[in-house]
Amino acid sequence: MTRYADFHRRSITDREAFWAEQAALVDWHRPFDQVCDYSRPPMARWFAGGRLNLCHNAVDRHLAARADQNALIWVSTETGQERVYSFRELHAEVQRMAAILLGLGVRQGDRVLIYMPMIPEAAFAMLACARLGAIHSVVFGGFASGSLANRIDDAAPRVIVSADAGSRGGKVIPYKPLLDEAIRLATHKPSRVLMVDRGLAPAPAVAGRDEDYATQRAAHLDEAVPCVWVEATHPSYTLYTSGTTGKPKGVQRDTGGYAVALAASMKHIYQGNAGETYFSTSDIGWVVGHSYIVYGPLIAGMATLMYEGLPVRPDPGIWWQLVEKYKVTVMFTAPTAVRVLKKHDASYLHAHDLSSLRALFLAGEPLDEPTAQWIAGAIGKPVIDNYWQTETGWPILSIANGVEAAPSKFGSPGMAMYGYDVKLLDENTGAELTGANQKGVIAIEGPLPPGCMQTVWRDDARFVNTYWKTVPGRLIYSTFDWGVRDEDGYYYILGRTDDVINVAGHRLGTREIEEAIARHDAVAEAAVVGVADAVKGQVAVAFVVLKDPKHVGAASAAELEADIMKTVDQHLGSLARPARVRFVTALPKTRSGKLLRRAIQAVCERRDPGDLTTMEDPAALQQIRDHLSDA
Ligand code: AMP
Repeated sequence: MTRYADFHRRSITDREAFWAEQAALVDWHRPFDQVCDYSRPPMARWFAGGRLNLCHNAVDRHLAARADQNALIWVSTETGQERVYSFRELHAEVQRMAAILLGLGVRQGDRVLIYMPMIPEAAFAMLACARLGAIHSVVFGGFASGSLANRIDDAAPRVIVSADAGSRGGKVIPYKPLLDEAIRLATHKPSRVLMVDRGLAPAPAVAGRDEDYATQRAAHLDEAVPCVWVEATHPSYTLYTSGTTGKPKGVQRDTGGYAVALAASMKHIYQGNAGETYFSTSDIGWVVGHSYIVYGPLIAGMATLMYEGLPVRPDPGIWWQLVEKYKVTVMFTAPTAVRVLKKHDASYLHAHDLSSLRALFLAGEPLDEPTAQWIAGAIGKPVIDNYWQTETGWPILSIANGVEAAPSKFGSPGMAMYGYDVKLLDENTGAELTGANQKGVIAIEGPLPPGCMQTVWRDDARFVNTYWKTVPGRLIYSTFDWGVRDEDGYYYILGRTDDVINVAGHRLGTREIEEAIARHDAVAEAAVVGVADAVKGQVAVAFVVLKDPKHVGAASAAELEADIMKTVDQHLGSLARPARVRFVTALPKTRSGKLLRRAIQAVCERRDPGDLTTMEDPAALQQIRDHLSDA
């Protein structure tokens, strides 16, 4: 048995001792009584009885040894700004933010919704919430008012922290009008809104509700706000993610399990050491941003580089220039970004000294071989894929080089990470597939390891019913991904089993997009599918049935398409905008009225749509075929 195989085996068969050892990587205010309370499966209570604080572990505990070392490096190529905070300075800023939030009435257990661009104040707000034991809910800045309103209603925040605007590719994107509209749409009304004014866009304050961050900060400049020691099982945050239904789920994360899982992953998977710099190009609105822009690197005592801008602006060398300047040792990005860079000359990359870099990690979507080969060749460093989900918070599959060096295989994100008892299940019978090269659903036998979702926010039943299946006597979590495992225990991901699509690493529910399209006055119904795309992995393509088929003559089809796209932009945000909208008179459905999205997708990708015996009207699929030349 290899060292890693033994490490993994111990994490499953000797769970308590294994995770007790990992728990020593973080500071506890009060030791835990029990490593894992799994008395009410599938609900796992990790480190029950223990007390700690996530902000203390990310910031305060480093003051003794590294107060003057870099903690947060912020670079914006959008506004041409660069700011570096030491741990001491970060500590001060987080306390100022915590004092402001306290002043606005935020207490332990309250929710604070953060709707912000990639600016340091977003990280201050997250860490300040953790400091107070308040539960943050970061909403990606690319989401528009409809999505934001849904999340406001679900999280019911006391306070919202936001900013006047973001910027992308030099174009200012005002946030405030979207936020005001979302609050108008929402049933729940936050009592206060804290606004960071970047001077990018007008953001008129609502009297009695909106507070200006700079003014508030000046009033709380020297305030010390102690960490609130919370139970290990206390929720640290919720983060919304898409699934099969139109309503996103609030993934709820704990405190103790999360701190331990991140600290362990920094050591065993990412191999980042205190005093070094970690650069994750994600956004704080996504799970990678939570785990590996904010909490993971800081918990490990590393500086984290937070970047606002595009990978190709001012030129495609910008990321590598930052690697050189800040001596980045660990870098993390998504395959889409690499595919974008690949379109440019590799000389941009070679112009910079990348000797500090140890490895590049990629995640969020399938990594195709040409992309992996290109980037590995261009940087001359290991490229390590890792597969996980918002739900899990850290990798399910990867290579744990920190435990034992193992080769990566192109096309595979790697093997089961310690703590995850990964199984492949037969889709129909639920039976475990134990042989090599069999296709099944990737599943995890409970309990999920520390750091994974505790439940769906305020909806335990949805958590249990959505994710868990009982397979003779055992409770198993479904990832909703297809996969196969080879003889060496390496997995290959073969796509989602549900109606989730992945556009440029962004997870979108086709139902959500269909519902947004249906808001357009002319639309009777819509089907959205993910279609393979050379750069983004997948793009959304919509097939729409109009209330009045005569509505669209050849001349107005393009106009109507643009108009429907605008509806999606306004409701969900441009990230959910379909790449194409095509008009049909009927959608392929089963006789019981179920939309045959998989058949539509297969036709769009010129694959065999499979068994269509249950289809109501074969002519509907033919209409989609007829659109193929332009779909
Ligand atoms: P999210 O919750 O947004 O992180 O999306 C999770 C989903 O993205 C997974 O269920 C997979 O479908 C996909 N995914 C994430 N990482 C990878 C990867 N390394 N390879 C293939 N698919 C991935």
